[in-house]
Amino acid sequence: MSFFICTLNLLKGQGFYLKIRTDIDFMREALMLASQAKDKVGHDPLVGVVFTKNRHVITKGFHEKLFGLHAEFSAFKEQDFDVEGSTVYVTLEPCAHDDYFPSCAQFLIRKKVKKVVIASLDPNPIENGDGVQLLKKAGIEVVTGLMDAENRLLNLNYFERFK
Ligand SMILES: [Zn+2]
Repeated sequence: MSFFICTLNLLKGQGFYLKIRTDIDFMREALMLASQAKDKVGHDPLVGVVFTKNRHVITKGFHEKLFGLHAEFSAFKEQDFDVEGSTVYVTLEPCAHDDYFPSCAQFLIRKKVKKVVIASLDPNPIENGDGVQLLKKAGIEVVTGLMDAENRLLNLNYFERFK
C-alpha cells in the first residue's frame, strides 16, 4: 500500500498523473477561446476549436470577429499543422456549405481528422445537421452535445435568432 501511495505521489510530482485531460477539459478550452471574441462577432456565433492528438493540443483557434476566418481556419492562420488522425473539439457544428467562406466540414475532411466532438448543432436551418452528415459520410467519427448547454448560454443571441 505504501509503495502504491509513493508511486502515486511520484507521478503527481512528475506531473504525469495530472496532465491527462478529458473531453470536457478540451471542450471547456474551446468554449473559453470562443468567449474571447465576445462583442466582436456581431450576429455571428462565438466559436472555438481545439485540435488534439494523444490528448495534447496541436493547434487551436476561434472566430475572432464579424466576417473573420471561421474558427477551424483560424487555427491554421499562423502556420500549417499536420492534424491527420486528430480529435477536434469544436463548440459549433462545422459549416457544410461554401458561402462567404469555404466549408469548414470540407476543410476538416481534407485535413484527415479522425474524430470531431461538437458542443451544439448549428441552429441555422441552412446548416443544421449538414456538417455532421458530411463528416460522417467521409468516415469521420462524430460526437455531438458535449457541453451543449454551456455553448447555448454563451451564444444566447445566436440561438434565439433561429428559434
Ligand atoms: Zn465554417
